[in-house]
Amino acid sequence: MGLIGMCTEKCDSQGEGTSRRRFLQHAGVVGAGLMLAGPMSALGLSNQSTEPRGKIASRGYAARNNSGVLSPWEFQRRALREDDVLVDIKYCGVCHSDIHKLRGEWGEEKYPQVPGHEITGIVASVGSKVTKFKPGDRVGVGPMVDSCGQCDNCKNGLEQHCQRWQTKFTYGFPDDSLPTGITQGGYSINVLVKDRFVIRIPDRMRLQDAAPLLCAGITTYSPLMRESIKEGDKVGVVGIGGLGHVAVKLAASKGAEVHAFTSTEPKVDDIRAFGAKNVVVVRTPRDLGPHFGSLDYCISTIPVDYNIGYYATLVRPFGSFTQVGMPKEGKLTLQHFMMTRNRVNLNGSMIGGIPETQEVIDYCARNNIKPDIEIISAEQTNDAWNAVVDKKARYRYVIDISTI
Ligand SMILES: [Zn+2]
Ligand SMILES: [Zn+2]
Repeated sequence: MGLIGMCTEKCDSQGEGTSRRRFLQHAGVVGAGLMLAGPMSALGLSNQSTEPRGKIASRGYAARNNSGVLSPWEFQRRALREDDVLVDIKYCGVCHSDIHKLRGEWGEEKYPQVPGHEITGIVASVGSKVTKFKPGDRVGVGPMVDSCGQCDNCKNGLEQHCQRWQTKFTYGFPDDSLPTGITQGGYSINVLVKDRFVIRIPDRMRLQDAAPLLCAGITTYSPLMRESIKEGDKVGVVGIGGLGHVAVKLAASKGAEVHAFTSTEPKVDDIRAFGAKNVVVVRTPRDLGPHFGSLDYCISTIPVDYNIGYYATLVRPFGSFTQVGMPKEGKLTLQHFMMTRNRVNLNGSMIGGIPETQEVIDYCARNNIKPDIEIISAEQTNDAWNAVVDKKARYRYVIDISTI
């Protein structure tokens, strides 16, 4: 994802910038405009009364290099814009993506970098053109904070697939207009987000329970809904960690017969309690043999390289298999002989759009579906990351941001 840095916000505000090249072509013109605006900005004045008053102080836990070790850091966020919402963060979930990204396992990163994209909190202030939210509202912010808003995919609520490559991810996303040069995430006391990307959290849902749903929840809900999972369908869930345990609960809530596949035997009783009818402990691919072609659909959350071909054989002919776990460098091994056995439709999926993210939150609130969480303090986060990698998390760590 570190590669996806096509255009800056200066470029967005011109309503242009479909590519980096185009941005560079008009950068000179924008630069001249900024120079003209300079003296007014220096006096704290602005052409627009809605312009922000100044940069916003923040502090959080950042990695300084690809060791991924987090430590306290004070930094600035940009000033509030007219369509921004400033959120005082209360909780932030720990996603395996945070670890991959901050350890440089998805590509080169810029540091210091604050991770975190399962954010819930309370609206602190809003820009002059924001009408949907007001200070005091309970809200969430997931893995995106902005996109072009103009392309067909953005207009259709598929902001994660912005055709102009302007999906702005919540942390580590290059943006020269920001004080730190990249977006900074939710292991921090506050976050700025465009109003369209703010999710409302229903009163009946605790903020700490809602946090993991903003990534783990939507990432599994979206493909399950795409498959129109219904009562009686045989649904496989591979990898029962932060994402997988939510996938089991969601699929079971739709009446599906859930078959879970885990490499961690001590999780078996938990997984049954989440709603799985059958739990298979997989030590070698041979353990998959008895389940060949038995599923209507399968979703895999495994976040490391593994042979996806063996697991694809679990699905009946012409069924679908979705990979949502994001391994190091995005690399998976595929045993093609196995892939062809059932002509399975293999697809990859990344989070979900904003309307669907609101949908999963509302669905979980209505149906009392909650992730199994363990609240930690900010200074416990390094240990929590190691526990996630060692498959010891049960099942999602959530940071109490008041400890920062
Ligand atoms: Zn777009
Ligand atoms: Zn995530």
